[in-house]
Amino acid sequence: MLIIGLTGGIGSGKSAASACFKQLGIEVVDADLVAREVVAPDSSCAALAQITAHFGQGILTNKGELDRAKLRQLIFQDPEEKAWLNALLHPLIRQSMLAQLNACNGPYAILEAPLLIENQLQQYINKLIVVDVPESLQVSRAMARDNNSQAQIRAIMAAQVSRQQRLEQADFVLDNSGSLSELQQQVGALHQQLISMTLN
Ligand code: ADP
Repeated sequence: MLIIGLTGGIGSGKSAASACFKQLGIEVVDADLVAREVVAPDSSCAALAQITAHFGQGILTNKGELDRAKLRQLIFQDPEEKAWLNALLHPLIRQSMLAQLNACNGPYAILEAPLLIENQLQQYINKLIVVDVPESLQVSRAMARDNNSQAQIRAIMAAQVSRQQRLEQADFVLDNSGSLSELQQQVGALHQQLISMTLN
């Protein structure tokens, strides 16, 4: 089955675009969600036990879940700890992501990943869709959604690849500078194109 990557900068409209694909019956694997699942207390991969053994019980919330904010702060200050965590989690995330993609049904499946290019996930996909908006719109939509300052959104954007770098990698571009119904129309047309690709 074809695996189609879907990426875009923060606030570009990845979730909005993937909702359109889901409405068309296409299954979507969300890389961010997989990353959260592998560290869940009930996950079969026991990553949380290893994280707790390494960082201590203080890394858990009082509900016994991973305190993601605390962990982020810890690894932000310490590149060695960050490398340790990535070495543990990246293979687990990839394994689970691939298993979920394998279990998908339909003419094609979508892998939605904000950091698809940054994390070099291209090797797992056949084609890449980039959701694109001008940066000013990206900032204003992300600010409105997350109740964050312009500076916070700009800092996140600075840690992602540039709009240009993303567009250079794209096989298909969804222009999300218009309305949600315009996005939906573009997704509908792209869906037909992808289905005809699977028939060839
Ligand atoms: P991403 O998943 O790429 O971070 P979202 O899909 O969450 O982006 O979109 C960011 C915000 O902008 C959300 O609040 C969403 O509802 C809104 N949004 C997305 N596309 C449009 C659009 N075409 N018109 C108006 N608002 C939009």
